[in-house]
Amino acid sequence: MTERPARARQPRKPDWLSVDEAREIILSQVTVLGRETVPLTDALARVLAAEIESSVMHPAWDNSGMDGFAVRSEDVSAASREHPAVLRVIEEVLAGGFPTQRLRPGEAIRVMTGAPVPEGADGVTRLECTEPGPEPGTIRVLDGSDAGRNIRRKGEDLKIGDRPLAAGTLLRPAEIGLLAMLGQPLVPVYRRPRVAILSTGNELADFADLPLVYTGRRIMNSNSYALHAQVREAGGEPALLGIARDDPGMLRQQLQAAAGHDALITSGGLAVGDHDYVTGVLDDLGMEFLFYRVKMRPGSPFAFGLLGAMPVFALPGNPVSAIVTFELLVRPALRKMTGLTEYDRPTRRVRLAEPVATRGDRTHFYRAKLERREDGSWAARLTGPQGSGILTSVSSADALLRVPPDSKLSAGAELDAIVLRER
Ligand code: AMP
Ligand code: MG
Repeated sequence: MTERPARARQPRKPDWLSVDEAREIILSQVTVLGRETVPLTDALARVLAAEIESSVMHPAWDNSGMDGFAVRSEDVSAASREHPAVLRVIEEVLAGGFPTQRLRPGEAIRVMTGAPVPEGADGVTRLECTEPGPEPGTIRVLDGSDAGRNIRRKGEDLKIGDRPLAAGTLLRPAEIGLLAMLGQPLVPVYRRPRVAILSTGNELADFADLPLVYTGRRIMNSNSYALHAQVREAGGEPALLGIARDDPGMLRQQLQAAAGHDALITSGGLAVGDHDYVTGVLDDLGMEFLFYRVKMRPGSPFAFGLLGAMPVFALPGNPVSAIVTFELLVRPALRKMTGLTEYDRPTRRVRLAEPVATRGDRTHFYRAKLERREDGSWAARLTGPQGSGILTSVSSADALLRVPPDSKLSAGAELDAIVLRER
């Protein structure tokens, strides 16, 4: 079948950007999406869309941090085993109960952890610092060191009007607990970007055609699944559009299925080979290209632009290139769209455990394992061969080493590593 070839591409400019320039252009083109409200139990890993003001005091009252006796310092500070202080116990307050009396000299009130501390008391002596006294209803305090201690003050965690959570906060379990404390059964969060993913290539098969993979006639479409996971991990909602064959008409049709999503990621079909149609067809569809190539390896053929308002990331097909370009150029954009204010992974200074060289004017992103040395420094060792088709070189990596162009580095040289996995 002969299809109308995609029309001539736009002039390829701007082109051949540094990774940092490409990242800046991408980030300048994406913005946070709208808001929605989710139940607190679904809010984990979402991003808070509004500052939350406290309308509660926590704790709501001065309360005991220990099981013991609420006492007055003057009565107990000098107490010791040899010279115990004998006090009369006038009341017992459980957590959830309230004292009915004010503490006077020579008195103690039994309190459980969390119970309100009665007026007149300025400390709680732990149970283990006491023993029963000479008469029923009395105690001996054997140790004065708790005098003035073990009281949790009203409002020491939260006061009315405090703003402990800002918009843009990633909700982890501690923030979920805090939101419960703040009385928020429903949480305002930013909407997650819905990201369409389309893989391209005549050589690809999906799970339905595994026999063709086993018999060596097709390559498994791993990119769609790796990208699906990367989108999720970046806080997006991935949608798989399947595999497009290297055919402009079919490609066009399948690309149109991305309409209505917040972003589109394609993989493959970017080289200038006869059957690489992705940029041409996107051009036909009216995409405004912001750049076509990035000075990086793996992953130099990486195009970015806008199809209407939708950002489109055209990734190279090699499995390592797809994962690495997503990491460096797509993930920051999705994080910005989710409302986060930090877009990048942590980096770490590392020392090469082996010599490393790069040729040409591209920044190389080598996959490496990191190991902590006795002196506290981190040693980086490459995960074996670094070919852009060697997916296992990424799965065994803890980090991407950022190696400048035209480098000849000996073992011991220092570099920046982008940390993918902590251990
Ligand atoms: P391309 O960028 O289309 O030239 O693809 C480069 C190489 O990446 C191809 O030779 C394929 O072996 C591989 N490849 C392309 N797309 C995928 C995919 N979705 N999953 C796994 N490998 C792929
Ligand atoms: Mg291809």
